[in-house]
Amino acid sequence: MTKPACAPPKKWDQRIERARELAHRYSFATEILTFYSKLAAFQQSFYSRLQSTLGSEAECAQNGRLSPELKPHALESLMPQFRPFLSFLAREGTSELAALAATLEKSGADHWAQILTRFWRRDERDPEGPSEVDEGREPVRPLAGAGPSDRGLWKFAALAFLRPCVEYLADRAAIPPPDVRRPVCTFCGSKPLAGVLRPEGDGAKRSLVCSFCSTEWDYLRIACPACQECRDERLCVYVASQFEHVRVEACETCRRYIKTVDLTKNGLAIPEVDELAAIPLTLWADERGYAKLSRNIFGS
Ligand SMILES: [Zn+2]
Ligand SMILES: [Zn+2]
Repeated sequence: MTKPACAPPKKWDQRIERARELAHRYSFATEILTFYSKLAAFQQSFYSRLQSTLGSEAECAQNGRLSPELKPHALESLMPQFRPFLSFLAREGTSELAALAATLEKSGADHWAQILTRFWRRDERDPEGPSEVDEGREPVRPLAGAGPSDRGLWKFAALAFLRPCVEYLADRAAIPPPDVRRPVCTFCGSKPLAGVLRPEGDGAKRSLVCSFCSTEWDYLRIACPACQECRDERLCVYVASQFEHVRVEACETCRRYIKTVDLTKNGLAIPEVDELAAIPLTLWADERGYAKLSRNIFGS
């Protein structure tokens, strides 16, 4: 049976446009948002080709859940896109990313496959999360001789490359509606990147956006998504005049925080992009000793 052509959903255009707009508005975030917009354009193009390349999607997701392992057949179908991805990093990335691309270019396809296969496993990309798989396996290591910061760089590369794939799979999966007390993504098991407040009736309902596959799910309005603390007096909300529609939601019990994008205050915001742009809020929370529940793709 011929599969229908795959037009990428509007979300990619929305992310690209929003990143360009905020890059102009916030000088402190211009560089990161400009690069993000180019990365999103690369990912959009990659996403649009997945219909013909990732033909084995049933292997990657079943019963509304992402497979815990990246299967060899699926990996094989993705690998032809990895060299163009390295070229993109070399062309558009920072000097550190260009150096990483050059190193990966030399290391060869077997190493690329190792990086992608291991990052796919939830406990590798999210080592603090509850483990559902075997303990004691050798963790993913940066290349021999690489500096300590390279671990962050290869994580960036793996996430940037795999995100279109997992989003593609999530977009096609029949994800069961989760319990509103579930603090991790029903589809892939990852922690949330950000919170979202969407208009509902006269107020707002709260949801969470996955840090890996971007799935959004409804979540309790008053609860910490890290430790499930529900006592109002332990949960704090901080806002800054610079970002009226982005707030820091912190928990005094576990000292974790998440940034929540309030679409009732700005309906044009795109949670993933506005969370990224609100760099001063991250610095503010870090200075006060709060730990972010899940870092974004740039590690902030
Ligand atoms: Zn997810
Ligand atoms: Zn907490």
